[in-house]
Amino acid sequence: MPEQNIKIVIAGPRGNMGSEAVKMVTSTDHFQLVAVVDSKNNGKMLGEIEGQPSLDIPVYEDLAVCLAEHEPQVLIDLTAPKFGRKHMEIAFDHGVRPVVGTTGFSDQDIIELRKLAEDKKLGAIIAPNFAIGAILMMKFAQSAAKYLPDVEIIEKHHDRKLDAPSGTAIKTAQLIQEVRSSKIQGHLEEKEELAGARGANFDGMHIHSVRLPGLVAHQEVIFGGQGQTLTLRHDSINRTSFMPGIQLSVDTVMNIDTLIYGLENIIE
Ligand code: NAP
Repeated sequence: MPEQNIKIVIAGPRGNMGSEAVKMVTSTDHFQLVAVVDSKNNGKMLGEIEGQPSLDIPVYEDLAVCLAEHEPQVLIDLTAPKFGRKHMEIAFDHGVRPVVGTTGFSDQDIIELRKLAEDKKLGAIIAPNFAIGAILMMKFAQSAAKYLPDVEIIEKHHDRKLDAPSGTAIKTAQLIQEVRSSKIQGHLEEKEELAGARGANFDGMHIHSVRLPGLVAHQEVIFGGQGQTLTLRHDSINRTSFMPGIQLSVDTVMNIDTLIYGLENIIE
């Protein structure tokens, strides 16, 4: 039974993800959007900003002030990688549980943020990919790699994406690495005629990043075996694909007192 009337602040409400999150939160019965944090428009109402839904939700530029004034239970952060960690620390300082979709956290960041969450007895969730289908793809890929250890990952995203490879591609490779004995793939004497032709090398697996306008978020995991190939493919066709995962994360974060990294640790 999910917690009722969860008070939520969204950071990044004008963005591709944030604007979908505003729709999701305001249309979910047991969620209440109390304020938003934007990089501009301080002091306005969301509805006063061109192109935004006509909602009487106050806009803040300073996250700490916003959290102090509205005392939400959850912060949904969909801003940019360089703000993810700082926003989480500010949330913890205010007793707020962060649900974070920005990428770019190091292993050390995760260790330190988990300690902060546990010291404060607060839940926190960072999910490099909120699309439940993508999480299933990663889990299926891990199962397949036990039997088909030769694998290449091709991830495709819109051309405004800053990081490559994607967090999802790295996570997929890490999950595969857990079950696959380390192996150099391809010909031992293979030579790149053009640098980067074989993509990034992760423990002998190759990861290829495609960036094009028109794409959203897509990934193929291709396994090769004797006389056969297996392709697992997931496509996020638009950003609504991420909303059920954010909704699930908000409900879950209310009932944990540590940091969970990755939706695969919530979905059985
Ligand atoms: P976007 O369209 O560029 O939106 C980001 C929004 O955040 C912009 O409106 C930006 O405002 C605002 N912003 C930036 N810094 C801010 C700050 N310090 N405080 C408040 N607002 C701030 O990007 P997007 O496609 O929505 O993606 C947002 C983030 O989510 C990215 O890190 C992306 O990699 C990640 N993402 C995660 C998933 C997932 O499933 N986890 C899926 C897709 C994307 P300005 O334009 O004025 O700077």
